[in-house]
Amino acid sequence: MFQLEPIAALATAPGIGAIAVLRVSGEGAIDIANRIFQGKDLTTQGSHTAHFGTVRNTDGSIIDEVLVTVFRAPKSFTKEDVVEISCHGSEFIIQQILRRLTQEGARLARPGEFTQRAFLNGQFDLVQAEAVADLIASDSDASHRAALTQLRGGFSKQLKTLRQQLIDFVALVELELDFGEEDVEFAHRDKLRQLMLDIRRVLHPLLDSFSTGNAIKNGVSTVIVGKPNAGKSTLLNALLNEEKAIVSDIPGTTRDTIEDELFIDGIRFRLIDTAGLRQATDQIEAIGIERTQQKMRDASLVIYLFDGKNSSPDDLQTSIAEIRSSGKPYLLVGNKLDAITENERQTLETIAAEPIVWISAAKHSHLDTLKTSLSSRVRTDTAVQTGSAVVTNARHYEHLTGTDDALARAIAGLDVGVTPDWLAMDLRVALRHLGELTGEITTDDLLESIFSKFCIGK
Ligand code: GDP
Repeated sequence: MFQLEPIAALATAPGIGAIAVLRVSGEGAIDIANRIFQGKDLTTQGSHTAHFGTVRNTDGSIIDEVLVTVFRAPKSFTKEDVVEISCHGSEFIIQQILRRLTQEGARLARPGEFTQRAFLNGQFDLVQAEAVADLIASDSDASHRAALTQLRGGFSKQLKTLRQQLIDFVALVELELDFGEEDVEFAHRDKLRQLMLDIRRVLHPLLDSFSTGNAIKNGVSTVIVGKPNAGKSTLLNALLNEEKAIVSDIPGTTRDTIEDELFIDGIRFRLIDTAGLRQATDQIEAIGIERTQQKMRDASLVIYLFDGKNSSPDDLQTSIAEIRSSGKPYLLVGNKLDAITENERQTLETIAAEPIVWISAAKHSHLDTLKTSLSSRVRTDTAVQTGSAVVTNARHYEHLTGTDDALARAIAGLDVGVTPDWLAMDLRVALRHLGELTGEITTDDLLESIFSKFCIGK
């Protein structure tokens, strides 16, 4: 039985649920959990005991109330010291707790890593191990793809280009190592410094976006608009899975704008339900509509929801004209699919003459299609992208800081004229983290770059 360095990860399925469980495993896992936990001294608690308390930020503010379960080696899944933290199932809370854990010394687990440790400590037999190996392989592939797609658009491309340039420099520095005693300098130090500064300039806004304030402020502001009774509140509730908005049969009862967050494929959507787009009939409603228009002006994306059951062809045409004239990127969403016939659906589609995402908000059906449409719209439509990518993923945060720290060390090293081997070490660390961010493996690239460019031929 042996214990490896502490790792942490979400153990329950990602997404919004009532409860989420985070798992920390490895040497010092209990110490780490204890440093972010307030309520009891976890280090003195026995195995298989549960403790109620709070997880705190470094400034002492509460992130969440949690239930912590302590498992002492070897009586745990991994046979290492394990702490399981049950928190509320909000993506935001999960990411914040993971961030605290990494700040206190845990590393984010790679896909399948807990299982791998369990296997290393003899928790499985050979047949099981083979199945696990497959799982680990497929998981990490998926996570690499996810890493690529989550770092949206320009940032990912920019980082890739910069990373390639850094690889070229590392190859030159490595080449200097081969000439050991001869004191040669193939890698132009000023250019290398400039490149590292450039990379850090790209990293910093991404890093900033992870901080609490920005994570809440940024994201894709999304409004749900549509006529009264289209089902906007029902849709909002369905998406958020809770009774936040007031649903009612009386048109125009959603008088205030209600705002909430939704995470789809790592993208943060700020959802705003509104008073609807109809003409004002009384004063309170008029205030609501004023706000709707304001919100639409501020929003990056509009979900235009119409009632598939009670919309006449004329209604639909006017609505589409209205929403088009606003000039905002929008998704046309038809609700109450459960209450119409296939013929009625086709008629409305012909009239609309543009793609409609059909759902039934009340029956929670086809919400996945809507979610996919939302996230792919953000990824593909530059008009929706607010210009700043938002890091919502703790894994990305870890590799962003990893790159940044390594580059800071390398630059500091350049300033005092360190030897190429020290420089190469920091650069390699930076490359490894950058590779994790852009979904590429570094070592092979490095070798390829060295041999293709220099043909050392030794
Ligand atoms: P809002 O005014 O746009 O916010 O609409 P509400 O969400 O308050 O819904 C208006 C009415 O439509 C309510 O009676 C809902 O139960 C009903 N409704 C909402 N979604 C659906 C749906 O998918 N199918 C059916 N049949 N009725 C729905």
